[in-house]
Amino acid sequence: EKITDKINALPGGANYFSLEFFPPKTAMGFANLSSRLERMAQALRPLFVNVTWGAGGSTATKSLELAEICQRQLGLTTCLHLTCTNMSRKLVDEALEHARALGIRNILALRGDAPRSEEYRDEGQLPEDDSNKDFTWAVDLVRYIRKQYGDYFCIGVAAYPEGHSDQSHPEAQDPKFDLPYLVEKTQAGADFLMTQLFFDVDAYDKFETMLREHESGAFTTIPIIPGLLPIQSYQILNRVSKLSHARIPADIVARLDAVKGDDELVKQVGIKVLSEIVDHLKARPSPTRRGFHFYTLNLEKAVSHIVESCHLIPQPLDDDDDAIELTPGADLQ
Ligand code: FAD
Repeated sequence: EKITDKINALPGGANYFSLEFFPPKTAMGFANLSSRLERMAQALRPLFVNVTWGAGGSTATKSLELAEICQRQLGLTTCLHLTCTNMSRKLVDEALEHARALGIRNILALRGDAPRSEEYRDEGQLPEDDSNKDFTWAVDLVRYIRKQYGDYFCIGVAAYPEGHSDQSHPEAQDPKFDLPYLVEKTQAGADFLMTQLFFDVDAYDKFETMLREHESGAFTTIPIIPGLLPIQSYQILNRVSKLSHARIPADIVARLDAVKGDDELVKQVGIKVLSEIVDHLKARPSPTRRGFHFYTLNLEKAVSHIVESCHLIPQPLDDDDDAIELTPGADLQ
């Protein structure tokens, strides 16, 4: 099913959430993640799940394997990430074809790492099958998917509330810099925006206002899904926020610093911090922003606490209620 169809079918004003997973490296990792996913699917009922793609196609086989588990075995609406640089066009074609064969209807169209051709062009070292002739930016992949598959896929694209940090313009990490390109991706046929993780809600609010007020009108109806990182540990938080260039506001740093020697307390404070971020966003309802995306890092506990305490878990489907009512003997008592 397409994510946008599922969003549109939700009752007015209802919130939803999605969970992101990356493919484990080993068979044991796959077995563990499969059972965790099954538990989480039943207990939390996410609207959809995301499966990441290693830059340059480094995890292609394993990403497709995990996507198959999610979509086919667990019946979860799955969104497959796909990057387009430093990868042959053949691999892009194979991934899209494979996704379609699995019944996957959702792709997060990404650039991935900066194209190698920038580095190698002058030295004439560009690999033969390098796709950079076709794909330089994420928008090229959005156009390509639309050209090859029409409306079959629901396409998401990445957005950066604090600006994208890139080697091509390291000095300009500013959402205003990315804005024309985000407009371009939207106008090329993107169906939803999913954001980089952030902790700075003021920066996020400003970003959303900038989109809403943009003269192109490109963002008036497209769903935007803010990305959130449950805090698993002090070290992981610092590492991931550095990688993603997400600023951690001083008050959050202070609350975590106060307990940093105690992993359990860090987790508890982290759950509180994330729940406050969700509540902040919920308190500013927007017709285009009703969902929350969680970067789970394949872990279960923190995100489970957050979605529970923020009342994001939907009621079971009516069918399940019927099943309880129709339990044999239930009406005889
Ligand atoms: P683009 O939209 O192409 O933008 C890249 C940069 O180039 C931006 O700074 C933009 O402003 C600039 N730009 C765009 N077009 C132009 C132009 N015409 N001229 C000049 N500058 C331009 N990476 C992975 O490898 N695997 C994943 O699974 C993955 N999942 C992600 C999920 C989310 C929600 C997000 C936010 C990111 C994810 N990434 C993933 C990271 C992503 O691949 C990197 O951030 C990458 O550097 C940029 O990808 P993009 O799709 O935003 O690129």
